Amino acid sequence: MQDFANKVALVTGGSRGIGRAIALELSRRGAHVVISYAGNEAAATETVKAIVDAGGKAKAIRFDVADSEACSQAIDDVVKEFGHLDVLVNNAGVAIDGLLMRFKDADWDKTLDTNLKGAFMLMRAVARPMMKQKGGAIVNVSSIVGEMGNGGQAAYSASKAGLLGLTKSVARELASRNIRVNAVTPGFITTDMTAALSPELKEKMSAAIPLSRIGNAEEVASAVAFLASDAASYITGEVLKVNGGMYM
Ligand code: NAP
Repeated sequence: MQDFANKVALVTGGSRGIGRAIALELSRRGAHVVISYAGNEAAATETVKAIVDAGGKAKAIRFDVADSEACSQAIDDVVKEFGHLDVLVNNAGVAIDGLLMRFKDADWDKTLDTNLKGAFMLMRAVARPMMKQKGGAIVNVSSIVGEMGNGGQAAYSASKAGLLGLTKSVARELASRNIRVNAVTPGFITTDMTAALSPELKEKMSAAIPLSRIGNAEEVASAVAFLASDAASYITGEVLKVNGGMYM
Protein backbone atom coordinates (compact mmCIF):
# COMPACT_ATOMS: atom_id res chain seq x y z
CA MET A 1 0.00 0.00 0.00
CA GLN A 2 1.58 3.29 -1.12
CA ASP A 3 -1.08 5.65 0.25
CA PHE A 4 1.55 8.19 1.35
CA ALA A 5 3.29 8.33 -2.05
CA ASN A 6 4.48 11.86 -2.88
CA LYS A 7 3.74 12.96 0.69
CA VAL A 8 6.22 14.48 3.10
CA ALA A 9 5.89 13.67 6.79
CA LEU A 10 7.69 15.19 9.77
CA VAL A 11 7.81 12.89 12.79
CA THR A 12 9.22 14.58 15.89
CA GLY A 13 11.17 12.22 18.11
CA GLY A 14 11.26 9.90 15.11
CA SER A 15 14.67 8.53 15.96
CA ARG A 16 13.67 6.09 18.68
CA GLY A 17 10.77 4.10 20.11
CA ILE A 18 7.25 4.91 18.95
CA GLY A 19 8.42 7.75 16.67
CA ARG A 20 10.86 5.42 14.92
CA ALA A 21 8.08 2.90 14.29
CA ILE A 22 5.83 5.68 12.94
CA ALA A 23 8.59 6.90 10.61
CA LEU A 24 9.19 3.36 9.32
CA GLU A 25 5.47 2.75 8.75
CA LEU A 26 4.89 6.05 6.90
CA SER A 27 7.97 5.37 4.80
CA ARG A 28 6.85 1.81 4.04
CA ARG A 29 3.64 3.35 2.73
CA GLY A 30 5.50 5.75 0.44
CA ALA A 31 6.10 8.93 2.45
CA HIS A 32 9.33 10.89 2.34
CA VAL A 33 10.03 11.07 6.05
CA VAL A 34 11.83 13.73 8.05
CA ILE A 35 12.58 12.58 11.57
CA SER A 36 13.59 14.94 14.33
CA TYR A 37 15.59 14.20 17.44
CA ALA A 38 16.92 16.07 20.46
CA GLY A 39 20.53 14.92 20.80
CA ASN A 40 21.01 11.19 20.24
CA GLU A 41 22.55 11.41 16.79
CA ALA A 42 23.51 7.72 16.62
CA ALA A 43 19.86 6.64 16.99
CA ALA A 44 18.72 9.16 14.37
CA THR A 45 21.39 8.01 11.92
CA GLU A 46 20.45 4.38 12.50
CA THR A 47 16.76 5.06 11.88
CA VAL A 48 17.47 6.95 8.65
CA LYS A 49 19.67 4.04 7.54
CA ALA A 50 16.92 1.52 8.37
CA ILE A 51 14.45 3.49 6.24
CA VAL A 52 16.87 3.92 3.33
CA ASP A 53 17.92 0.25 3.49
CA ALA A 54 14.25 -0.69 3.20
CA GLY A 55 13.99 1.40 0.02
CA GLY A 56 12.51 4.54 1.56
CA LYS A 57 13.54 8.19 1.71
CA ALA A 58 14.40 9.89 4.97
CA LYS A 59 16.50 12.54 6.62
CA ALA A 60 17.08 13.53 10.22
CA ILE A 61 17.04 17.02 11.68
CA ARG A 62 18.07 17.99 15.16
CA PHE A 63 16.12 20.56 17.14
CA ASP A 64 14.55 21.01 20.53
CA VAL A 65 10.75 20.98 20.24
CA ALA A 66 10.64 23.18 23.36
CA ASP A 67 12.43 25.97 21.48
CA SER A 68 9.98 28.25 19.68
CA GLU A 69 12.40 29.63 17.11
CA ALA A 70 13.79 26.18 16.36
CA CYS A 71 10.27 24.87 15.72
CA SER A 72 9.46 27.65 13.23
CA GLN A 73 12.83 27.22 11.54
CA ALA A 74 12.38 23.44 11.23
CA ILE A 75 8.98 23.79 9.54
CA ASP A 76 10.31 26.55 7.25
CA ASP A 77 13.29 24.42 6.27
CA VAL A 78 11.21 21.34 5.48
CA VAL A 79 8.69 23.31 3.42
CA LYS A 80 11.51 25.11 1.59
CA GLU A 81 13.31 21.85 0.81
CA PHE A 82 10.32 19.76 -0.29
CA GLY A 83 7.78 22.40 -1.35
CA HIS A 84 5.12 20.90 0.92
CA LEU A 85 4.57 19.21 4.27
CA ASP A 86 1.57 16.90 4.33
CA VAL A 87 1.81 15.13 7.69
CA LEU A 88 3.03 16.33 11.07
CA VAL A 89 3.31 13.82 13.89
CA ASN A 90 3.96 15.45 17.27
CA ASN A 91 5.52 12.47 18.99
CA ALA A 92 8.59 13.84 20.81
CA GLY A 93 8.10 13.64 24.54
CA VAL A 94 9.73 13.26 27.90
CA ALA A 95 8.48 11.52 31.02
CA ILE A 96 9.79 12.91 34.28
CA ASP A 97 8.15 11.05 37.13
CA GLY A 98 7.85 12.16 40.74
CA LEU A 99 5.41 12.68 43.54
CA LEU A 100 3.62 16.02 43.66
CA MET A 101 5.11 17.25 46.93
CA ARG A 102 8.67 16.71 45.77
CA PHE A 103 8.26 17.71 42.13
CA LYS A 104 10.56 20.51 40.99
CA ASP A 105 9.41 23.56 39.01
CA ALA A 106 12.15 22.94 36.45
CA ASP A 107 10.90 19.41 35.81
CA TRP A 108 7.31 20.65 35.48
CA ASP A 109 8.45 23.28 32.95
CA LYS A 110 10.55 20.83 30.94
CA THR A 111 7.68 18.33 30.75
CA LEU A 112 5.07 20.88 29.73
CA ASP A 113 7.41 22.72 27.34
CA THR A 114 8.38 19.54 25.51
CA ASN A 115 5.15 17.56 25.50
CA LEU A 116 2.57 20.33 25.18
CA LYS A 117 4.13 23.63 24.14
CA GLY A 118 6.25 21.86 21.53
CA ALA A 119 3.14 20.48 19.81
CA PHE A 120 1.48 23.91 20.01
CA MET A 121 4.48 25.67 18.45
CA LEU A 122 4.86 23.14 15.64
CA MET A 123 1.12 23.19 14.82
CA ARG A 124 1.19 27.00 14.79
CA ALA A 125 4.16 26.93 12.42
CA VAL A 126 2.71 24.29 10.10
CA ALA A 127 -0.78 25.82 9.89
CA ARG A 128 0.12 28.42 7.27
CA PRO A 129 1.90 26.11 4.80
CA MET A 130 -0.83 23.49 5.22
CA MET A 131 -3.50 26.15 4.57
CA LYS A 132 -1.63 27.28 1.47
CA GLN A 133 -1.43 23.73 0.14
CA LYS A 134 -5.12 23.31 1.03
CA GLY A 135 -4.79 20.33 3.31
CA GLY A 136 -2.80 18.31 5.77
CA ALA A 137 -2.98 15.87 8.63
CA ILE A 138 -1.62 16.27 12.13
CA VAL A 139 -1.44 13.48 14.69
CA ASN A 140 -0.49 14.18 18.29
CA VAL A 141 0.89 11.40 20.47
CA SER A 142 -0.72 11.82 23.87
CA SER A 143 -1.02 9.05 26.48
CA ILE A 144 -3.46 6.93 28.41
CA VAL A 145 -2.43 8.84 31.54
CA GLY A 146 -3.71 12.05 29.95
CA GLU A 147 -7.14 10.38 30.06
CA MET A 148 -7.06 8.59 33.40
CA GLY A 149 -4.28 10.29 35.42
CA ASN A 150 -1.51 8.44 37.23
CA GLY A 151 -0.03 8.91 40.67
CA GLY A 152 3.60 10.00 40.39
CA GLN A 153 3.04 11.42 36.92
CA ALA A 154 1.19 14.69 37.57
CA ALA A 155 3.24 16.80 35.17
CA TYR A 156 3.38 14.16 32.45
CA SER A 157 -0.37 13.45 32.74
CA ALA A 158 -1.16 17.18 32.70
CA SER A 159 0.92 17.65 29.56
CA LYS A 160 -0.80 14.75 27.82
CA ALA A 161 -4.30 15.83 28.94
CA GLY A 162 -3.50 19.34 27.72
CA LEU A 163 -2.48 17.87 24.40
CA LEU A 164 -5.97 16.40 23.99
CA GLY A 165 -7.63 19.81 24.56
CA LEU A 166 -5.14 21.35 22.17
CA THR A 167 -5.86 18.67 19.56
CA LYS A 168 -9.62 19.21 19.67
CA SER A 169 -9.37 23.02 19.62
CA VAL A 170 -6.95 23.12 16.70
CA ALA A 171 -9.06 20.47 14.91
CA ARG A 172 -12.04 22.84 15.12
CA GLU A 173 -9.95 25.82 14.00
CA LEU A 174 -8.37 24.17 10.97
CA ALA A 175 -11.15 21.87 9.78
CA SER A 176 -12.51 24.38 7.26
CA ARG A 177 -9.04 24.41 5.66
CA ASN A 178 -9.08 20.65 5.14
CA ILE A 179 -6.49 20.12 7.86
CA ARG A 180 -7.35 17.25 10.18
CA VAL A 181 -5.98 17.05 13.71
CA ASN A 182 -6.23 13.88 15.77
CA ALA A 183 -4.53 12.21 18.71
CA VAL A 184 -3.59 8.74 19.84
CA THR A 185 -3.39 7.72 23.48
CA PRO A 186 -1.00 4.79 23.80
CA GLY A 187 -1.12 2.67 26.91
CA PHE A 188 1.92 0.80 28.14
CA ILE A 189 4.31 0.37 25.19
CA THR A 190 7.77 -1.23 25.09
CA THR A 191 10.33 1.52 24.37
CA ASP A 192 13.36 3.13 26.07
CA MET A 193 10.87 5.24 28.05
CA THR A 194 9.46 2.17 29.79
CA ALA A 195 12.62 0.02 29.75
CA ALA A 196 13.67 1.09 33.24
CA LEU A 197 10.55 -0.32 34.90
CA SER A 198 11.12 -3.48 36.93
CA PRO A 199 9.99 -6.87 35.58
CA GLU A 200 7.62 -7.16 38.58
CA LEU A 201 5.94 -3.85 37.72
CA LYS A 202 5.70 -4.84 34.06
CA GLU A 203 4.03 -8.09 35.05
CA LYS A 204 1.61 -6.26 37.32
CA MET A 205 0.78 -3.81 34.54
CA SER A 206 0.20 -6.63 32.04
CA ALA A 207 -2.24 -8.26 34.45
CA ALA A 208 -4.28 -5.02 34.46
CA ILE A 209 -4.53 -4.97 30.66
CA PRO A 210 -7.50 -6.84 29.14
CA LEU A 211 -5.33 -8.00 26.21
CA SER A 212 -2.89 -9.26 28.89
CA ARG A 213 0.28 -7.81 27.42
CA ILE A 214 2.33 -4.68 26.91
CA GLY A 215 1.95 -3.11 23.48
CA ASN A 216 4.64 -2.50 20.91
CA ALA A 217 5.59 0.62 18.99
CA GLU A 218 4.40 -0.82 15.68
CA GLU A 219 0.88 -1.11 17.08
CA VAL A 220 0.88 2.61 17.86
CA ALA A 221 2.43 3.38 14.48
CA SER A 222 -0.37 1.72 12.53
CA ALA A 223 -2.98 3.77 14.43
CA VAL A 224 -1.05 6.98 13.74
CA ALA A 225 -0.66 6.11 10.06
CA PHE A 226 -4.39 5.42 9.81
CA LEU A 227 -5.29 8.83 11.28
CA ALA A 228 -2.76 10.55 9.00
CA SER A 229 -4.03 8.74 5.91
CA ASP A 230 -6.90 9.47 3.55
CA ALA A 231 -8.66 6.42 5.02
CA ALA A 232 -9.44 8.76 7.93
CA SER A 233 -10.56 11.63 5.69
CA TYR A 234 -13.75 12.27 7.71
CA ILE A 235 -12.09 11.97 11.11
CA THR A 236 -10.88 15.03 13.00
CA GLY A 237 -10.66 15.92 16.69
CA GLU A 238 -10.67 12.21 17.50
CA VAL A 239 -8.72 10.49 20.25
CA LEU A 240 -7.81 6.93 19.34
CA LYS A 241 -6.90 4.72 22.29
CA VAL A 242 -4.11 2.19 21.67
CA ASN A 243 -3.96 0.60 25.08
CA GLY A 244 -5.01 -3.07 24.90
CA GLY A 245 -8.26 -2.17 26.65
CA MET A 246 -6.53 -0.82 29.77
CA TYR A 247 -8.78 2.24 29.75
CA MET A 248 -12.08 2.29 27.87
P1 NAP B 1 11.52 7.52 23.73
O1 NAP B 1 11.86 6.14 23.32
O2 NAP B 1 12.08 8.06 25.00
O3 NAP B 1 11.92 8.53 22.52
C1 NAP B 1 11.71 9.89 22.67
C2 NAP B 1 11.98 10.59 21.36
O4 NAP B 1 11.67 11.99 21.54
C3 NAP B 1 13.45 10.54 20.96
O5 NAP B 1 13.52 10.55 19.54
C4 NAP B 1 14.03 11.84 21.52
O6 NAP B 1 15.18 12.30 20.83
C5 NAP B 1 12.85 12.76 21.27
N1 NAP B 1 12.84 13.94 22.14
C6 NAP B 1 12.78 13.98 23.50
N2 NAP B 1 12.81 15.26 23.93
C7 NAP B 1 12.89 16.05 22.83
C8 NAP B 1 12.98 17.46 22.61
N3 NAP B 1 12.97 18.33 23.62
N4 NAP B 1 13.07 17.91 21.34
C9 NAP B 1 13.08 17.04 20.30
N5 NAP B 1 12.99 15.70 20.43
C10 NAP B 1 12.91 15.21 21.69
O7 NAP B 1 9.95 7.73 23.84
P2 NAP B 1 8.73 6.79 23.38
O8 NAP B 1 8.44 5.85 24.49
O9 NAP B 1 8.95 6.30 22.01
O10 NAP B 1 7.54 7.87 23.39
C11 NAP B 1 7.17 8.59 22.25
C12 NAP B 1 5.91 9.38 22.59
O11 NAP B 1 4.90 8.48 23.00
C13 NAP B 1 6.09 10.36 23.73
O12 NAP B 1 5.37 11.54 23.48
C14 NAP B 1 5.53 9.62 24.91
O13 NAP B 1 5.07 10.49 25.92
C15 NAP B 1 4.39 8.87 24.26
N6 NAP B 1 3.92 7.68 24.97
C16 NAP B 1 4.79 6.65 25.26
C17 NAP B 1 4.31 5.53 25.95
C18 NAP B 1 5.18 4.36 26.28
O14 NAP B 1 4.71 3.46 27.01
N7 NAP B 1 6.40 4.27 25.79
C19 NAP B 1 2.97 5.50 26.35
C20 NAP B 1 2.14 6.56 26.05
C21 NAP B 1 2.63 7.64 25.35
P3 NAP B 1 16.67 11.77 21.29
O15 NAP B 1 16.74 10.34 20.85
O16 NAP B 1 17.62 12.64 20.55
O17 NAP B 1 16.73 11.93 22.77
